[in-house]
Amino acid sequence: MNFKVPRGTQDILPSESWKWQQVESIIREVCDMYRYKEIRTPIFEQTELFQRTVGDTTDIVTKEMYTFTDRGDRSMTLRPEGTAPVVRSFVENKMFGYPDQPVKLYYQGPMFRYERQQAGRYRQFVQFGVEAIGSADPAIDAEVISLAMEVYKRAGLTDIKLVLNSLGDSESRNAHREALVTHFSPHIGEFCKDCQSRLEKNPLRILDCKVDREHPLMASAPSLTDYLNESSTAYFEQVKSYLEEIGIPYELDPNLVRGLDYYNHTAFEIMSTSKGFGAITTLCGGGRYNGLAEEIGGPSAPGIGYGMSIERLLLALEAEGKSFMQDPELDVYIVTLEQAARRKGFKLLNELRKAGIRADMDYMDRKMKAQMKSADRFNAKSVIVIGEDEVNDQVVQLKNMGDGSQQKVSDAAIIETIKEQLK
Ligand code: ATP
Ligand code: MG
Repeated sequence: MNFKVPRGTQDILPSESWKWQQVESIIREVCDMYRYKEIRTPIFEQTELFQRTVGDTTDIVTKEMYTFTDRGDRSMTLRPEGTAPVVRSFVENKMFGYPDQPVKLYYQGPMFRYERQQAGRYRQFVQFGVEAIGSADPAIDAEVISLAMEVYKRAGLTDIKLVLNSLGDSESRNAHREALVTHFSPHIGEFCKDCQSRLEKNPLRILDCKVDREHPLMASAPSLTDYLNESSTAYFEQVKSYLEEIGIPYELDPNLVRGLDYYNHTAFEIMSTSKGFGAITTLCGGGRYNGLAEEIGGPSAPGIGYGMSIERLLLALEAEGKSFMQDPELDVYIVTLEQAARRKGFKLLNELRKAGIRADMDYMDRKMKAQMKSADRFNAKSVIVIGEDEVNDQVVQLKNMGDGSQQKVSDAAIIETIKEQLK
């Protein structure tokens, strides 16, 4: 029997995992700078949470969820996205009562969607996202967007653009909805089955259809922008002016409709403009969701957030021909030449590590030359060589791999000498 990693998933091997760790530390640093705190919610939730919030006309809910019945006959779903769980926790833990509003949260972890695998699209992917819940200030929209841009910037991406739209409040959305129904109804027979059911349930979703993208009625569909009422327009103007204030350029796209049902007002995506990037160019998507907390039984608590996958961030870096610097793996590699030397080496190894020095040695009983090759591959800054003479004389040979110099150092002084060198 040959076992394989499930389709749409991947092993992150040691040759790659260090890049993930770098992204994760960038995320932590930036969130810390903006005072967003980490929240960790379970990998699975009650299925109904996603049905109600993400929306039962979305691709996620109709086609992509990993849903199962547990042994207590409850329907559970592996989380396909992060916002609904976070808002569920916000309501359940009464975070609306915290003295400092909005509550600013971030999360990072695996999400699951049963999708067709292609570049940048996996069945298990890692999403980083933030949610600022409790404020309807347009400045927080700009803050959330700038946090996402800052993460990409620190990761080294330059070929990115911000695309912005406003979905308006419910009054605006209703007016637009009626216009959409009038527009599509006479020809709905020419559209896919999904769109036909969307026409009644949520016609806005037709604009986001991936099957009927090229239908002529798509381009001529009534634009949301023309249906924004006065207060929605004023809100959007403020978001734009805050972005301008902090020097974040944007493009407007009146057809930008986010994949999830719960959005209103600000909607945005950050896309890669790099030529090397594949068909999927969206790196990050988010928006405002003012009714979501109420939808799941909480008080009114306007929120805004986004999600981005680490997979697409790394793909974008690759497409731009950029990469992270890999730190040397080791400070010291210990090469030993016979049994007594090994014993001494093993003891020294333990002392080095206790002193906070990254060190390793050979466990395969190999010849000196092979051990030296390992030290090279690990990019060790120094090598300690111990043979019979060194055991007898209570010294070691310390080789600096940077300049090739070598010196004899007494056992008593070795830790201090290496610490000095590492400074
Ligand atoms: P798409 O139109 O690409 O399917 P979506 O609207 O389903 O995107 P969201 O639900 O808004 O995407 O997810 C936000 C972000 O999560 C995306 O911009 C992307 O970075 C990432 N993402 C979504 N689905 C996947 C996936 N299957 N594999 C990897 N990353 C994903
Ligand atoms: Mg999708």
